[in-house]
This record gives sequence, structure tokens and C-alpha cells, in this order.
Amino acid sequence: MSRKLGSERLVIATHNAGKLREISALLAPYGLQCVSAGELGLPEPDETGTSFVENALIKARAAAEAANLPALADDSGLSVHALGGRPGVYTADWAERQWFEGEPGRDWYLAMGKVEGLLCELGPDTDRAAQFNCVLALAWPDGESAVFEGIVHGALVWPPRGHRGFGYDPVFLPNGRDETFGEMDPEAKHAISHRADAFAKLVAEQFGG
Ligand code: IMP
Repeated sequence: MSRKLGSERLVIATHNAGKLREISALLAPYGLQCVSAGELGLPEPDETGTSFVENALIKARAAAEAANLPALADDSGLSVHALGGRPGVYTADWAERQWFEGEPGRDWYLAMGKVEGLLCELGPDTDRAAQFNCVLALAWPDGESAVFEGIVHGALVWPPRGHRGFGYDPVFLPNGRDETFGEMDPEAKHAISHRADAFAKLVAEQFGG
């Protein structure tokens, strides 16, 4: 039988404000007491894995151990089919503003432009299909863990559309929709996103009776 979350607090092991907002909204109906890694002052571990599963487990296990509480981490990213699945686990890295001395940080327009530039190099008829993947990892301080994987398929648009969501949302048009994730109501994104898909599996296991 799968291990269940108890009445102790759950650490949301992310320092990404967009993810924290979405995970908190998805968890809200379940009455869990949540605290973020940022609120607890937990350090961000290096994401040295080569898959979403490995990186989600690294983050969840580091937070569970440091806080001595169960922890939930998300590792996610954009995979573009014509780019052989890139940026994939390096999705966040493609936004690094390495060349602005003294101004570390991430620039999502830079990252979206980099993806678009590579697609343009492949020619005007290039397949623009892409997917977002999400792995949610739950870890307990004693080392037990569980993972839940979610996916949403779509295509990349250019120029970016909309200012909602975060990260690459303005260029991602989910299949069958006419609004990008950057244009949609947050509730509409939550109904179909890769994070919601992974979350539904977590909820079925944790709260599904
Ligand atoms: P990581 O999981 O911390 O390695 O970061 C994954 C990166 O993927 C995020 O920083 C975002 O740029 C991107 N990403 C993941 N999920 C979403 C999403 O729902 N919308 C837009 N971008 C996302």
C-alpha cells in the first residue's frame, strides 16, 4: 500500500514563484498545511540529474531531510520535438542571463527567443510540436519517495502571446485550444496542464480512498 501524507506540514520544495503559486492552488482543496522551501530558508540543491524524475527526487529528498518533514518537489520543462527534445531538463538554464555581469537571473524572453531561433534555422516548414513534462516527487525524511508524471502536448507560437502564467507559457499553445498558456485563465491552465496531470495522479494515490 502506498504511503499517505499525515497531519504534519508539507514542504513545497520549490523556489520558483510561478510553480509555488500553481502547486498551492492545486493543493488548496485538500486541507494540507503547506510551507515553502523559501519560508523555511532551505538551500536550493544542485539539479545534477539527467531526467525530470532524478531532479524532482533530488529536490524533494533534500527538502525532506533538511526540514525533517515530508516534501513535494516539481521538476518540469519544455521538450521541442524538432530539437530532439531540447531544452528538456535544461529548460530553466536556457533562460540564464550569463553575460550580464553582476546581474544574475533568468530572462524567459531570452529563452523563448533561443528556442525560436533554433526552429527558424531548421526552416519555415519545421514541425513546431512541443510538450511540457512535469514530475512531482514526494519524499519523506526517512528516505521513502513516490513520483507522479504528467504531460501536455501542444505547439510553439511566435511571437509570444499573453502575460499570464510563467516561464515559457506565452509561446505554448496546447493542442485543441486557441489561447496560449500565457493568455488563458489560470483555472483553464490548471485543468489541462502537465502539472495538473501529474497532480491528478498524486491526488488519486494520496486522497483517492
Ligand atoms: P526546473 O523544474 O526548476 O528545472 O524548471 C523548469 C522550467 O521549465 C521552469 O523554470 C519554466 O521555465 C519551465 N516550465 C515548467 N513548467 C512550466 C509551465 O507550466 N509554464 C511555463 N514554463 C514552465
